[in-house]
Order: sequence, then structure tokens, then C-alpha cells
Amino acid sequence: MPAQTHLFLCLKDNFGVLLHDPQSGATAAIDAPEAAPVEAALQKTGWRLTDILVTHHHNDHTAGIGALKQHHKCRVVAPRDEAKRIAHVDATVGEGDTVKVGSLEGRVIDTPGHTAGHISYFFPADKIAFVGDTLFSIGCGRVIEGDPEMMWNSLVKLRDLPDDTRFYCGHEYTDANIRFAKTVEPSNKALAARADEVAKRVAAHQFTIPATIGAEKAANPFLRADNAELAKSLRLAGSAAWKVFAEIRERKNRF
Ligand code: ZN
Ligand code: FE
Repeated sequence: MPAQTHLFLCLKDNFGVLLHDPQSGATAAIDAPEAAPVEAALQKTGWRLTDILVTHHHNDHTAGIGALKQHHKCRVVAPRDEAKRIAHVDATVGEGDTVKVGSLEGRVIDTPGHTAGHISYFFPADKIAFVGDTLFSIGCGRVIEGDPEMMWNSLVKLRDLPDDTRFYCGHEYTDANIRFAKTVEPSNKALAARADEVAKRVAAHQFTIPATIGAEKAANPFLRADNAELAKSLRLAGSAAWKVFAEIRERKNRF
């Protein structure tokens, strides 16, 4: 049976998401920005929380863990390299490990850069990826603990997932990301089409995610740093892709 998801907002612009296995009844929260909206989402869906899958240690992804664990006795799975910085961890995982949510099987992908031990979770049977603050819709996370080369390599790993993979990211930033992306690739048609689609969703008070990896590759400048024309337009023709990525990230930081 295919996995089900339920998406909702937490805090100001954090996404909370539940992943549900209809076969076993197991349900995972991907990150736990705060407990109350997760509880509300569980009420609404009627699902029972069995697991929390943590992408990285930042407080806006972990603050709700304690209260949820106390209430639901759920298992907390966290990145091995950050487990010491996250409370209530039961299991630690890293690259290539399998994480089960009932009968659903996820694969762990190390995606460092935003934080040094950041991980993503990919469920191949359903082609769903949870990418935390590494990849955003038409953007990417700030490079805080890693360096640009590390972050670029992480983004390429996510870009290499099947084109029809739907990815869920940690924040609703798409609208602002599009405004910036247009300054980098003003004549990108895929980006223009995405901008139209996102404008419609925003006007209808809908979330702008999930997007697919295939659509993202065509429109997200942070996944396009190895595009020769883009490099040339930034006066970086012939530079390593991570250097082009670093320049785009720098511009976004100043935007
Ligand atoms: Zn973060
Ligand atoms: Fe965050």
C-alpha cells in the first residue's frame, strides 16, 4: 500500500510532515519543530505517532521532540553525527542505513553543509524524500557548519534521486526563493513556469511543496551550478561547480 503524507505549518514558516504506513498503522513525524501542531495533525488524521525522524539538530526542527516522546512513547531516529546535540534519541543513523516506519523502508542519505551531520531520508518505493534544510523549493539552506563544496555535493546527491521523487523540505520559503532565483536566471522558462504555479498556489492559500526533483533541476539555480551558461553569466566560466554554487549562495545571503 502506498505511503500517505500530511503536511502542515509549524512556528512561523517551518513545515511539519507526517508519513503514514496504512498497512501497519505506523506514522513518523519528520522533524518536530513544536509539539502542538504535530498533535493537531495527528488528531486530524487519526494517525498514531510511532517515530520521529530528525534531519538535523537545529531547535526549529527538534524543540517538539520531548513532549511528543513523552506523550506517544515514539522512537526518535537522529543523525549519528549530531545525536549528542539532540535530546531523547533512541537510534542513530547515517549514509546507507535503512529506517523502517512500519512496512515503509527509508534510506538515509548524508547531506552535510547546513549542519555538519545533516541527513535526508528517501523512501524509494514511494519516491518521497525528506530533505530538511539542505534543499528548499527553488532554494537551499544556508551553509552554516559545512563549506560550499560540501553543500554542493549534498545537493547533487539529492538531485540524483529519480526525477519523479517528491521532496519535502523544512521551510515554506518558495516565494522569496523565486524572487531571488529570477535575478540569477532571468530567462529560465522552467523557473518562470514554476513562478506562475507557485503564485497560483499562494493566492489559493495552498502550500508550495512538495515539488519533484525533475522540476527542481530545471528551475532551482542552486542545483544548476554545473550549467555552463549559468556559470558564464556569473563570469565564472570554467570554474568548479561548487565555486559557482558558492557565488550563488553568497548572492542569496546578500539579497
Ligand atoms: Zn536548520
Ligand atoms: Fe530550519
